[in-house]
Amino acid sequence: MRILLLGAEGKVGSVLTPRLAEAGHEVAPVGRDGDWDPAGYDAAVDFTAPRAVRGNVERCLAAGVPTVVGTTGLGPVDLAAFDALAQERGVPCFVAPNFAIGAVLMMRFAAEAGRHLPNAEIVELHHETKRDAPSGTAQATAQLLPGEVPIHSVRLPGLVAHQEVLFGGEGQLLTIRHDTLSREAFVPGVLLALERLPSLPPGLTVGLDSLLH
Ligand code: NAP
Repeated sequence: MRILLLGAEGKVGSVLTPRLAEAGHEVAPVGRDGDWDPAGYDAAVDFTAPRAVRGNVERCLAAGVPTVVGTTGLGPVDLAAFDALAQERGVPCFVAPNFAIGAVLMMRFAAEAGRHLPNAEIVELHHETKRDAPSGTAQATAQLLPGEVPIHSVRLPGLVAHQEVLFGGEGQLLTIRHDTLSREAFVPGVLLALERLPSLPPGLTVGLDSLLH
């Protein structure tokens, strides 16, 4: 595929650039100051910044380019706008708050465990430069579990992104844990989204979980 990669100079983008090329894609990298035109690309991928993502994605969809979005900070109003524009242009827009396949499976398994062991707490641990707490993944996991689930946030140097979901039962403890050890963790999820993009319906699809059957 001919792919326009927005945010190519960032921490995730600089990992994605060579890996998408290795996978056989033709990558056009765009940095912050780059002049770009989405016309003619098979797909766009956005890993930029919350302040930039809405304008970028709308520009790609308006040009009729299917778009994969990893940038966080999008709210329901942004997603509704993407859905409307993508449907109007007849192209898919895929948004995933977490492209690490293991993290998505952790959430799926936690939902299953919560049906049988309803007493759960979440510990999420991230590098000290992550400002928001609790993490979006921890909040999304809590929503899959019964009742009010306490979330404990740890911010320390040396960590990347980690989460434990602990289920307490009589005389037993089940721990489901996922560790993101490097940004390579997001590569297979982005490749999967690109592979599935042509078969997704026009409009918005949210979450890697919907691609993992
Ligand atoms: P980063 O290192 O700050 O990289 C973002 C890059 O985008 C920077 O090079 C930035 O340039 C550039 N940029 C900013 N505005 C732009 C624009 N309008 N057009 C093109 N490029 C622009 O951040 P990161 O760690 O790679 O993460 C990027 C985003 O992905 C964040 O929102 C992060 O939360 C999210 N993320 C999502 C996942 C997931 O699984 N969904 C995983 C990891 C990260 P400057 O440095 O000059 O501003």
